Amino acid sequence: MNVTESLGEVGLPAPVDELAKRRWDAIVVGGGHNGLTAAAYLARAGRPVLVLERRERLGGACTLERAFGGDYVISPCAYVVGLLDEVVIRELDLERHGYRATPADPNLFCPFPDGHAYADFLDRDRTEEHMRAQGFPERDIAGLRAYEDTYRRLRLALRHGNRGDSWRMPSPSRAELERMVGGDPELISILFEDSIADVLDRYIDDQRLKDALFGQGVIGTFAGPRDPGTAQIKLMHHQGDLLGRGSVWGYVDGGMGRVSFAIAQAALEAGAQLAAGVEVEEIIPGGGVKLASGEFIPAGIAIANADPKRTLGMLNGEVPADFRERLESWDVRSPVVKLNAALSRPPVFTAAGDVDAYRAMIAVTPGIDAAQEAVDAARRGEPRFGFAEVYFQSAYDPSVAPEGKHVMSVFAQYAPYELAEGDWDSRRQEIADLILDGVAVYAPDIRDCIEALEVLGPPDIEERIGLTGGHIFQGEALPFQMWDRRLEWRTPVPGLYLCGAATHPGGSVIALNGRGAAQAVLADLDA
Ligand SMILES: Cc1cc2nc3c(=O)[nH]c(=O)nc-3n(C[C@H](O)[C@H](O)[C@H](O)COP(=O)(O)OP(=O)(O)OC[C@H]3O[C@@H](n4cnc5c(N)ncnc54)[C@H](O)[C@@H]3O)c2cc1C
Repeated sequence: MNVTESLGEVGLPAPVDELAKRRWDAIVVGGGHNGLTAAAYLARAGRPVLVLERRERLGGACTLERAFGGDYVISPCAYVVGLLDEVVIRELDLERHGYRATPADPNLFCPFPDGHAYADFLDRDRTEEHMRAQGFPERDIAGLRAYEDTYRRLRLALRHGNRGDSWRMPSPSRAELERMVGGDPELISILFEDSIADVLDRYIDDQRLKDALFGQGVIGTFAGPRDPGTAQIKLMHHQGDLLGRGSVWGYVDGGMGRVSFAIAQAALEAGAQLAAGVEVEEIIPGGGVKLASGEFIPAGIAIANADPKRTLGMLNGEVPADFRERLESWDVRSPVVKLNAALSRPPVFTAAGDVDAYRAMIAVTPGIDAAQEAVDAARRGEPRFGFAEVYFQSAYDPSVAPEGKHVMSVFAQYAPYELAEGDWDSRRQEIADLILDGVAVYAPDIRDCIEALEVLGPPDIEERIGLTGGHIFQGEALPFQMWDRRLEWRTPVPGLYLCGAATHPGGSVIALNGRGAAQAVLADLDA
């Protein structure tokens, strides 16, 4: 079976009643990239493992779909890679299974209302030259260098220090993390307290540059640039090492779902069985799972890839009170809207000059203060444009659109699940227009280019992917739900493990959550 060719629509490996008769050491509930990773590691260790995915296709939030009449292949949710861990790529031989990434260059482009722009090229000298040409003062060019070096120091301390890689082990405690960063008060404060605006203020004077850079601190979080803890959102997004180039983001050939499909292929090769279109209704820890279609499949271990709220909903048996309370109070409020569009041509960003803007990740924002006002409005239930990232996969990979056509992703904030007035069905287009108006400030022809548009607000993401609240990380990634406050791979319920993005080391397409869960299961089975 070729998972990539079927875009993850793998069907059943055998009739369900036959699967129910086999002996499984573990059943993975959910075929997102982390569930598939857990299955691949268990199968490689010789353990019989079955993945049951509710949807017809694998990949969860990291998948591919045919859209707009079937001629386009879109990444409906996750669209760029930056954190997928190099150890998983190597151990599961993902490149042999079809995974290939290209870093975006420029990695970031941000236009300003005054007609200037900031472009962050892979070559730092080129970035600095461009900044000088755009009129940035030398002290801000030096400030930007120092700002990036601070985050780089943090990444190296947490991932390459002599105490080990904090992402590939169960989460260190706060005291251990403080030791890992050498007790440096500034690094500790970025890890646990600072807002992204605080950190930018320490290094940079030029407001335009701060407006260009704060987005990395708010992506996916229901918080604004001045809210405490957003400095660590930037840190989470800065912990990768794409193709050995450090913290940069890029495109996956064919689209992001190819990550999940390559992992699925590795799992199949190792002997895992993958079944799509099979919904688990109940997890009986230590016993097995009951399907929505009524069958019972026995297995001593269940590994939940579904988000914590859904997982709790599947646990009808005894759950320790404090664990239940933790899952019930898990924060999954999301302000994210995703637009997916088919384009006749890429729009023109008027501030681009000689920069190939549409090959960059483009940050579009009305500025830090307006973004903070937008999140405050969203907290009252009012959608407001505060930040967006715009991507054109077809700039690197024409395979995803018919000849001459393009695709565009707009990842935008802030629009809450619960609207103070009306509902998503009656306001979806109005909210999309708010976002397109925000983009049109810098690309006035954006609407002329759009031939078809899909709008996914938090309730749509919840319904389509299954992520409760539409939360892109299976739960808020501010410090109050990170490190040892994120969920662990082992749970207090014997026979139940978690492997999704709600676990350490966090949300995004990382795959270490699945690897960590598999390692915990294998260690316990061998104990
Ligand atoms: C709009 C959006 C944009 C994003 N952009 C990026 C990006 O560009 N880059 C990036 O790195 N990350 C991005 N992310 C985040 C990233 O996609 C997720 O954090 C990650 O994909 C989560 O993977 P997972 O395997 O842990 O869980 P999920 O992908 O949530 O998978 C869980 C799976 O469990 C299944 N399931 C649930 N209940 C049941 C059940 N009862 N029975 C069987 N199966 C069940 C679900 O159908 C789903 O397939 C984005 C997310 C969203 C939503």
